[in-house]
Amino acid sequence: MKALLREAGVPVPRGVVVARDLPDFRAARELAEPLVLKAFGPGLVHKSEAGAVELGLRAADLPAAAARMRARVPGLAGFLVEEQAAAGVELIVGLVRDPAFGPVLLAGLGGVWTETLRDTALRLCPVSERDARAMLGSLRAAPLLGGGRGRPPVDVAALVELLLTVGGAGGLWERLELGEFELNPVIATGDGVTAVDARYLPT
Ligand code: ADP
Ligand code: MG
Repeated sequence: MKALLREAGVPVPRGVVVARDLPDFRAARELAEPLVLKAFGPGLVHKSEAGAVELGLRAADLPAAAARMRARVPGLAGFLVEEQAAAGVELIVGLVRDPAFGPVLLAGLGGVWTETLRDTALRLCPVSERDARAMLGSLRAAPLLGGGRGRPPVDVAALVELLLTVGGAGGLWERLELGEFELNPVIATGDGVTAVDARYLPT
């Protein structure tokens, strides 16, 4: 799914897929540390709860981390090793289909706060650049995007561009054969945005 997103212009971390049995981590040496190891497999939806995400690894740590993960995660089909994005504001960007109105773009506070705070904005597709900015501005979390407390302001232009890539004219919403999906989290920093997790929503 990440390859498809990258092709569509969604920034995702550089990464390599590694087999479950006799994993070969040589290709991961091309990636910049720190690295993230993730397990994937059918039914592995909430990966961190299943112990299927390890952050802050060096390339040399990968074989041991993978062996531990294989032992604790049932249904593990393979591994993804990817570059770790710098800390930033975690957002959710999604595409859902309203039965009456059709494709709807969703943007909001992501990561661990999505379900707890339910701070999201919705707009019918296609959204304009103005709509995208208004969506972000309407969030209760909007002040977080402005920086402060030692953090630089988030690269809002890159965030708006991502919203348009998903829900703007000619965006991914026009290819809804792809199904409904959410990018969560999208990590936004002072110099860009990265979608570090993506999943299709059950229909
Ligand atoms: P899941 O949502 O299935 O538990 P994620 O892939 O979202 O798994 O990973 C869990 C958390 O780990 C994310 O919300 C994010 O905070 C962090 N994370 C995952 N991948 C990366 C990455 N490449 N760079 C930085 N942080 C990451
Ligand atoms: Mg996630």
